[in-house]
Parts: sequence; C-alpha cells; structure tokens
Amino acid sequence: MREIILIKYGEIILKGLNRGKFEDILLRNMRRALLKNSYDEIRVMQAVVYVTPAGGADIDNMVQRLSRVFGILSVARVLVCEKKAEVILEKGCEYVSAALDSCKTFKVEAKRSDKTFELTSPQICAQMGEAILNANPHLEVDVIKPDTIVRVEIRDKEAYVYADAARILGPGGMPTGSGGKATLLLSGGIDSPVAGYMMAKRGVTLDAVHFFSPPYTSEAAKEKVIDLARILARYTGVFSLYIVPFTEQQLAIRDNCPEEHLTLIMRRMMMAVAEKLARQNKDIALITGESLGQVASQTMHALAVTNDAVSIPIFRPLIGMDKEEIISIARKIGTFETSILPYEDCCTVFVPRHPTTRPSLEKILESQAKIPFEKLTEKAFMETTWVKVEG
Ligand code: ATP
Ligand code: MG
Repeated sequence: MREIILIKYGEIILKGLNRGKFEDILLRNMRRALLKNSYDEIRVMQAVVYVTPAGGADIDNMVQRLSRVFGILSVARVLVCEKKAEVILEKGCEYVSAALDSCKTFKVEAKRSDKTFELTSPQICAQMGEAILNANPHLEVDVIKPDTIVRVEIRDKEAYVYADAARILGPGGMPTGSGGKATLLLSGGIDSPVAGYMMAKRGVTLDAVHFFSPPYTSEAAKEKVIDLARILARYTGVFSLYIVPFTEQQLAIRDNCPEEHLTLIMRRMMMAVAEKLARQNKDIALITGESLGQVASQTMHALAVTNDAVSIPIFRPLIGMDKEEIISIARKIGTFETSILPYEDCCTVFVPRHPTTRPSLEKILESQAKIPFEKLTEKAFMETTWVKVEG
C-alpha cells in the first residue's frame, strides 16, 4: 500500500494575485517542519499541497509535524491506487473503513481530472457508495449533511482515496514569515507563550527576549523559559531567544524609587531594552502577554505609562481575553504544563504592597528620574546573551 499526505490551506486562498508568494512561504515552512529525507516531493495543485513521503518514512510523524504549520487547515493521509475501477473500489473501500467506524452517515465525492477514465464521476460515487455500504452495514448515505465525505480523485497517473473523518486539523492562520518580525517578551508564565503563538499564527516571525535576575530568580526558572520557547518553536520554526540579566537594574529601582512605582518603572525599562533588541534585529514591534485588568500593571492607565517608554508598537493579542480563555489555548498548544511549574519570575520578586493602578505618567517620570534610566537600559542591552531555540 502506498500513501501520500494531502494538505489543505486556508486564508492564503483569498490572497488573489499575491497567492503564489504566500504559497512559497508555506511550502518553505513545511519543508522546515519535516525531517530531512522524510519526503520525496512536495507540490501544489489547485490550492492543495501533496507531499510524497520517502520510502520507509514515519508518515504519522510527518502528519503531526505538518499539523502544527501555520496556514494549514487540514492534513490527511491518502491512499494512492492504480487507476483501475475495481482496484479503487476494493482497496479504497478497505482503506477508509477504519475512519468510518465512528460515523453514521457518509457520501462519496468524486473528482476526475482524467476524462478518459472508465467511469464517470456519478458512476464512481454510486459504485463506491455501494461498496462501502456493503462492507459497513452500520452506515447510511446522507448527501445533504453526512458525518464524513469519502473522496475519490482520479488524477493523470494515479487515483487517490481518503475520508475526511481521518483528517487532522491544522492551526489555520497565515504562514510564519508572511507577516513581519516582532520581539516577544517571554516570561515563564501562562500568558506570554500564548501571545507569541497567536502572533506567529498571523504570520509574524518571532524573536524572543527573557529578563532574569539571579540570584533572585533561579537557573531552573531560566531553563523553564527555554523549554517554553522550544514548544513555541515547534510551531514557528527556529528562533532566537535573548536573555537579559536584570538584577542590577531591579535593585537600582528597588533601592531608589518609591515603592508603589517599582513595577511600572521596571516594566518601562524592560520595554526599553526590548526595543533596543528589536531595532537591532529589524523587528518592527514588541509583543507581550498582557491582558486588560489582569494585574495592577495591566490597567489601561498602567499600559499607557508602559507604552510611553518606547516608540515602536506593542502588540498585546490577549488584551481582551479572560484567563480561562488564555489557559484553554495554552493547553491546546502544549505550553500550559510547563508554564505552571512553580518558578519565580523577575517581575514577581520585588512587588510593591500597594502598586498604583491609576498611575500618572508625570509622577512615574519623576520617580524614574531617581535612577540613571538610560544608562541602566543600555547596560542590560549590552550584557544580553543569545540562544538559538529549536522545536
Ligand atoms: P505571564 O503569564 O506571561 O508571565 P503575567 O500574567 O504573569 O504574564 P506579568 O508578569 O505582569 O503578567 O507580565 C506581563 C507580560 O510581561 C508577560 O506576558 C510578558 O510578555 C512580559 N514579561 C513578564 N515577565 C517577563 C520576563 N521575565 N521576561 C520577559 N518578559 C516578561
Ligand atoms: Mg509573568
């Protein structure tokens, strides 16, 4: 038995004249997601991508990898048949049976790009439908709203048979690399990996930056962030994670600025360092996992004060989401279990007892003037190290 993998993609189809460009990026990302030597060919035909696995390749693993590539709506294993009606009916019917176990109704759809094939499309549907009914007595045909569709495609050299029920859904969205580059502020928490995922899903290429404050934050806390970055990289492909030592800066803020302003001044400095990194990497925006009202530093007043520290856009894809909604995405993408490991974050080591929730920018700037803000920002930037993260 020979199988190929058939991939349908989503929004790219709407791209009109630009479609080819988006398809090229999608194909590049698919090649990157697959193991080298696992496929012989990847080609696009009429908005469908066909991947021919190499002999002996682990097709389940390929399907799993492809189902994480942004832009892809569904991934299906497909039986490749000799172009003879009797072979298609017998082998095809056998092939789709497992997928039909959990269905009550089905219909057959046939597509024939080879018009010389011995059966017409309606004949293929009728005969395949009958063969399936005979082999699966629990099924009924429903042409209006079937539980699944069995598809038979007669191509130039061979025929394909598969059932929609056996498809695995992809994440949808736009292919990573089609939507600009941005720097994700990645903590060890639940929110920021989800924020990175959501922006990458819209085609954004990520760099990431993590601030840590040894000895107040541990080596294990840093490792946890690298683990989270690796999970993200399964979807986005390889990216750079910048690691910023932030102890001196945090201590300077703690020792010199009014307590109720500590968090906001620290967040302004984080943004300022991240902006420098973004500019160095030609990234055009920052991304955070902030959500309106979640904590004192995420009220609208506080976010406005944070924004003032930089002059590039800050994207906050979680801004209107509840924690429960964020958690359900974190579970789906596989970051949740790592995020809830109990390690400290530099944002939580020096927290004021009564942080301001309605800060005025003027007052914060006054407090910030008590430290050499620019100098400390530059120092953190200069001491930043870098790791390459792979999924
Ligand atoms: P998360 O669950 O992602 O940690 P949070 O709800 O704990 O978010 P905060 O700790 O206030 O919220 O952080 C808000 C955002 O600031 C995070 O989503 C992340 O983008 C960024 N951030 C916080 N701590 C760090 C850090 N140590 N390094 C890089 N970015 C950070
Ligand atoms: Mg956090």
